[in-house]
Amino acid sequence: MSITHHLDDATLMSFAAGALPSALSAVAAAHVAMCTRCRGEVAALERVGAALLTQLPAVGMERAEPETPSDQRLPPSQQRRDRSAGPMPSATPLARLLPGGLAAVRWRRLGFGIWHHRLPVAGSGTLGLLKVAPGRIVPEHGHGGAELTLVLGGSFHDTTGRYRTGDVADLDETVEHEPVADLGLDCVCLVASETPARFRGLFARLVQPWHGL
Ligand SMILES: [Zn+2]
Repeated sequence: MSITHHLDDATLMSFAAGALPSALSAVAAAHVAMCTRCRGEVAALERVGAALLTQLPAVGMERAEPETPSDQRLPPSQQRRDRSAGPMPSATPLARLLPGGLAAVRWRRLGFGIWHHRLPVAGSGTLGLLKVAPGRIVPEHGHGGAELTLVLGGSFHDTTGRYRTGDVADLDETVEHEPVADLGLDCVCLVASETPARFRGLFARLVQPWHGL
């Protein structure tokens, strides 16, 4: 897998510190499991965090343990392994989200060659799968906060580049975009938003109020 779009530094730091909202953390974990570079970055950040904790004054720190926060997000079988060395099974975080795999997803058709499947998530924000038919356009939208989009199949492009399987689009509230699925395969993405995306025009009026995108 050749990954060219990664989590940005701020997202990696928040993820390593366990400070990302649950929805964003789920997408970040799925990308990190696929991406050697981001996995190494997270491991390095966790080492820095652990080192800083050990240098804090001992008074009042009896309960502070220099543990690696992302361990808490992994199943027991994956904990305490060396995350910077060797491949991690790429399906692990996704398998937790999609126990039956993509084949078992019950898509809800939104029209315009776009399907959605909402995933349960704790806290604020939204998490779901988006499937876009080849050549179809996701209407232009902005965001009230961060949005992470991880490509699971097919590919898409927008003004920020072309995204293939394993790539993640790490966008903030300053970006408005209109992704287009590339020709060939359906583009399937795992998408998390801090707040629902703000679609414009007809799509928003027809679809968004009922589907919570
Ligand atoms: Zn990466």
